[in-house]
Formats: sequence, C-alpha cells, structure tokens
Amino acid sequence: MKILLVSGEVHPYSKTGGLGDMVGALARALAAAGHQVGVVTPLYAGLRAKVPDLQPLGPAAEVVMGWRRVPMVVQTLSPEPGLTMYFVDHPGYFERPALYGEHGGDYPDNAERFVFFSLVAARLAVELPWRPEVVHVHDWQAGLVPILLQHQRLHAGWRRSLRTVMTIHNLAYQGLFPGWDFALTNLPADYFNLHGVEFYGQMNCLKAGIAFADAITTVSPRYAREITTPEYGCGLDALLRARAGALTGILNGVDYEEWKTSGNRYLPCAYSARQPAGKGKNKLALQQELDLPVGADTPLFGSVTRLTDQKGVDLTLGALEEMLGTGLQYVLLGSGSPVWEEAFRDLARRFPRQVAVRIGFDPGLSHRIEAGSDFYLMPSKFEPCGLNQLYSLRYGAVPIVRATGGLDDSVVDIAADAEHATGIKFTEYAPWALAKAIRKALALYAEPALLKEYRRNGMLADFSWDRAVAGYLRVYTGAAGAPSFHP
Ligand code: ADP
Repeated sequence: MKILLVSGEVHPYSKTGGLGDMVGALARALAAAGHQVGVVTPLYAGLRAKVPDLQPLGPAAEVVMGWRRVPMVVQTLSPEPGLTMYFVDHPGYFERPALYGEHGGDYPDNAERFVFFSLVAARLAVELPWRPEVVHVHDWQAGLVPILLQHQRLHAGWRRSLRTVMTIHNLAYQGLFPGWDFALTNLPADYFNLHGVEFYGQMNCLKAGIAFADAITTVSPRYAREITTPEYGCGLDALLRARAGALTGILNGVDYEEWKTSGNRYLPCAYSARQPAGKGKNKLALQQELDLPVGADTPLFGSVTRLTDQKGVDLTLGALEEMLGTGLQYVLLGSGSPVWEEAFRDLARRFPRQVAVRIGFDPGLSHRIEAGSDFYLMPSKFEPCGLNQLYSLRYGAVPIVRATGGLDDSVVDIAADAEHATGIKFTEYAPWALAKAIRKALALYAEPALLKEYRRNGMLADFSWDRAVAGYLRVYTGAAGAPSFHP
C-alpha cells in the first residue's frame, strides 16, 4: 500500500515521548514489509545539521493561512528503501529550543504552527506524485488534516479515493485553542460546530480528527474501551461512543533493533534471556554512575518518565516515603512539571544513599536505567499504551504497574496466570496500593528462583511490530472499523 503518516514528532529526528517512538517505528516497519511510506513532520532545530542530505521538494509554493500566503518549503530524505521523510521547513515556527513549549508552558502560537503544518500535510497528501492511498494522522498536531482533506474532496471536485486514519496517542492532549484561531484554516464556518471542530466555543484539533477520519485507532485495546467512558473520555467520550464502530485499539510494538540488551552502545554489559548474568553488572554500573552505594543485594527500582500527573508521580512519592525504610534504592530520570521536578530532587537530598534523581532528557541513561533496575515503577493514572513497561520487560526489570490502558494489556500478574507472570499489578489509585505492590516486589526479590522466572517470561515476551503492522493494515484497508469513504 501507499501510506502517508503525519506526526508532530518522529524518532530518531524528534521525540518528547511515546508518540515519536511509535511513528518512527511504524514507518520503518511498514516500509520493511514492502509498503511505500512517507512521513510528514516539522524540521525542528538542529535537524539541518544532524541530517545533512536533505533535498528540497519541488518548486517554491505557498499555502494560504487565514489572510496570509505563507511559503511552503519541504525538505526530503530517504533514510531507507520505501521510506521518504517530508520535513516541513519553516524556521520561524519550528527552529526553537523545544517542540511544543518551554518552562512547563506551551508556545503561544501553537495554533498557527500546527494549522500551518496541517495545511502543508494536506497539500502533500493530494499533490505527491506517488499518490498516497491512506493518510494516517497522529494526535492533535495533525488532527485537522482529515477535515482539510474531506473539505477538498467535497468542494474542490477532487475524486480520488483517499482513506484517512486518526490515531489517538493520548486523549488528554487535544490541541485546544481560542475559537478565532479557526479562521487560520480557511474552512467554512459549517465545520465549527458540535459535530466538527468546535468544543465549548474553542477550536479542538483532536476532536476534528476523531469526527472526520474514516477510521480511528488508539494504542491499546483497553484504552480504546476506556476512552468511551466519562471517566477517561476527557469530554470526548460521547463523540467516541458515537464513533465506536470506527474505533480500534492496537497495542504499540517495540523497536527491538533499538531496544536491545546485546550490542547496545548505551549499555556497559551485554546480556539476554539465555545469558542473564550481565544484567547484574549493569546494575552495579548504574549505581556507580548515579553515585549510589554499590551493592548487588540492594533491590533497585527505576523510572524514566515525563513528570506529569498522568504518570502517577504523586503515588511514587507517597509510596517511597513509606517504603524507603526497607533500604531499597530508587533511581529516576525525568522532566516536566517544575513542582514534581523539585519534589524528586528533594527526595534525593533527603535520602542521598537510596535515591538518585536526574532531571533532563537522556536516551542513554534511559536504557541504562531499564537495564540496571530490578523493578520498574509505572503507576500511571491512565496510560494509552506506555512503552517503558514494554522496554522494561525486554530488559528484565520487572514492571510494577497500575492496571489501566496498555499497562493492563501488556503485563501479566501472577494472580491472572501463575505460569506466565511478568510483573506486578495494582488497581486502586492510591500510594498505599503502590506501596503494597512494592512490598510484593520485595518478597519476590527474596525468592531468586521465582524472580528469575518473572524476568525470563518478560524478556521473552514478544511485542514486536509485526503484530501491530498487521492491525494497521487491516484498518488501512477498511477491514477493521468503519467502511471506507469514497467520494
Ligand atoms: P509517554 O509517551 O506518555 O511519555 P511512554 O512510556 O509511551 O510515555 O513513552 C515514553 C518514551 O519517552 C520512552 O521511550 C521513554 O524512554 C522516553 N522518555 C521519557 N522521559 C525521558 C527522559 N527524561 N529521558 C529519556 N527518555 C525519556
């Protein structure tokens, strides 16, 4: 098939979280399976130097945004057979220190930046000479693309059939902007209503995608069910219930070329399910790197996370307050809300021999934490898919997760299946519930034979992209969800 992906971030070019990982890996997996794939994404700061062989696409062009004509410059790159990157090149919008905002706040012109991005993506979807059959858009940054294409096919007499698919990676981020920003799209006011872009007087980019895409997916089966309920629906549950026939949950895959325990440039020592001894050496190296007392017998818990309410960081802080008394060690790599950053720094100051905290974004350290930790904490309030628990399974760090969204779909608790247990689950969103799960982990740590079995089950669990690609192909061909729309 011929597929055009549109995303605000794509690993290895840009990433703030799981979205970037997923789109980068999906693009490569589809191309490797023999499909023709294009990916539209912004040309962020630093990429020009990092990716020197960019080629400009076609002659100069413009898009009309509101009352302005804005130059449309696109740089292309073909990193591997079957895959072409289309970088939207607008230094004024995208050459900034961060992708979406700084110091805990969004950039004030995000509406303009991503309406422009969506206008360019919609143009490419129609004008690229290889004629994509499916346009697969991701999250709010690309949410307006299905509506822009719908408008074109209905009003510009364009008759080619083009299927649009929207993937929700996190319903909590909707791209909400003042209603007057809708004028930037140059769409007729008919779309600015309850059934379209409008949301309590504001412009809602994610809602636009959900309302107008031919098919909707999200990144785990359980989250697909959860978001149709008021508790998890973030105000869009009624729309999602109305579109439930078009909604599918497909658990993300892992790029095991990148997330591997042997031949990984970030890890001091290679290991595997068959030869697990090296894991212990990674643990000692991690303790040393983070200035903790080095000891093979001390149970080591780790987290790599955005520091936001979603990730249950209040539970981690509360549970550790109680559980550090047992002598365990905890390491955290994260960044996000200044309040949480300071709370974790404070914990490390109070327990310097047990807690190490690194605030920042550091891919190498994230691999070393997964490899060095005995247990991985992920007590999310909600979790569309979650990748870190999948990485921790492969790295032999037994995940301790709250049973929600993709965490519930990917981790097996001993209560559900004693033979295939891979992690520890808890349900109640409360520090005591996490503390109880940590106590279970310590009991498991005291039983090396059982712990070995958990690790082995986790390391052998297979979340490779083949299964997810098959799921997306079913959605692309209309075999899952709603029938295709043919103008
Ligand atoms: P989310 O997308 O909600 O942030 P996921 O678990 O799906 O959560 O994906 C997070 C991704 O971002 C993982 O690849 C994780 O390793 C990475 N990540 C998050 N915070 C950091 C950080 N501070 N440094 C390095 N990588 C990070």
